[in-house]
Amino acid sequence: MKKALVCGGGGFIGGHLVKKLKKEGYWVRNVDIKPHEWSPNAADEVLLLDLRLKEACEKALTLDGGKFDEVYQLAADMGGMGFIHSAETEIMHNSALINIYMTDAAARMGIPRYFFSSSVCVYRDMKPGEPEMTEAGAIPAHPDNEYGWEKLYSERVAMAYERRYGMQVRIARFQNCYGPEGTWTGGREKAPAAMCRKIAEVEDGGTIEVWGDGSAVRSYTYVSDMVDGIYLLMHSDLHGAANIGCPQYVTVDELVHTVARVSGKHISIKHVSGPVGVQSRNFSNERIYGLGWKPKVFLEDGIRHTYPWVETQVKAARGTKAD
Ligand code: NAD
Repeated sequence: MKKALVCGGGGFIGGHLVKKLKKEGYWVRNVDIKPHEWSPNAADEVLLLDLRLKEACEKALTLDGGKFDEVYQLAADMGGMGFIHSAETEIMHNSALINIYMTDAAARMGIPRYFFSSSVCVYRDMKPGEPEMTEAGAIPAHPDNEYGWEKLYSERVAMAYERRYGMQVRIARFQNCYGPEGTWTGGREKAPAAMCRKIAEVEDGGTIEVWGDGSAVRSYTYVSDMVDGIYLLMHSDLHGAANIGCPQYVTVDELVHTVARVSGKHISIKHVSGPVGVQSRNFSNERIYGLGWKPKVFLEDGIRHTYPWVETQVKAARGTKAD
C-alpha cells in the first residue's frame, strides 16, 4: 500500500485530497496545525504540528519502518483577498518557513515525490482579453501581492532541491478553488464562499456588498476537479509548474448573479471599496490538458454543490447564536 503525507490536510483542498488518496487506496497521514473541522477522521492518522518548525517537519515525515512514497505540501497561511492584503508579513514569514523546512527535510530524508501547491497569484495583472498566459509568463515576475511572491520563491526552493537531491518535484499553480468544506466565514474566505455566505444571510430582495466595481475577471475551479488535477500531475513526468484552472472566465458580478440564481433569491449588489486584487486572469491550461485533465464541473453546477453547504453552515451558526 502506498503511503502519502498531506501537509495542510486540515484545510479545504488538503481535506479533499486526503479523501481522494484514500479512495485511490493510499495509507494517508494528515499533518496540520489544526484538525479538519468537518471531516476530522478522513486520514488514517492525524498529527497536529506547527510546520514552521524544522523539528515538526522532520516528525511529520518520519514513518516507522519505511518512508512516505509521496508528500503533498498544501500547508500555508492562506486566505482570500481581504486576508492576503492585511496579512503580508504573516504570509511572507509563516508560509516561507513551512516551505523552507518541509522541502529541505523531505529532500534530505529521501522522499521520492514531492508536490507543492502554488498559485496563479505568481502572475502579473492582466488586461481583459489579453492572450492566454503560459507558465513561462511568470518571469519576469511582477505578482501584485506578497502571497504570489512567496509562492514564486517556494517554487524555486522546491526546484533547487530537485536539482540537488533528485527528489521528483511537481508544482501546480491553482486558480481560485471553491466547493463544500472550504473556509466560508471569519475573514479568510475566498470570493465564491463569501458570496454564498452573504446571499445565504440576506433575505429575498435584499442587498449585498461586493468589493470593487464587480468587473474584475476570474475563473473558479471546483475542488473535485482540482484534486483530480493534483493527483494526475503528481503521477506524471511533467517538470516545472503547471496551471490548473477551469477556463470559464466570469466577472465578480457574474459570480454573484450565479449564486443568486442557485439560491432562488433576488439580490441587489452594492459595490463598495475593498481589496479586489488583479483586474483580469486568462491562463493557459495546455500543460495540464496534455496529461488528459479537463474540468468536469462548471461554475453554476459547482455553486449548486457549494451554496447549500454554506447555507447549512449559516443556519447552524445562527442556531448556535440563538441558543
Ligand atoms: P486552507 O487555509 O484551507 O488550508 C491550508 C492549511 O494549512 C490549513 O488547514 C492551515 O491550518 C494549515 N496551516 C497553516 N499554517 C500551518 C502551520 N504552521 N503548520 C501546519 N499547518 C498549517 O487553504 P486551501 O484553500 O486548502 O489551500 C491549500 C493550498 O493551496 C495552499 O498552499 C494555498 O496557498 C494553495 N492555493 C489555494 C487556492 C484556493 O483557491 N483555495 C488558490 C491557489 C493556491
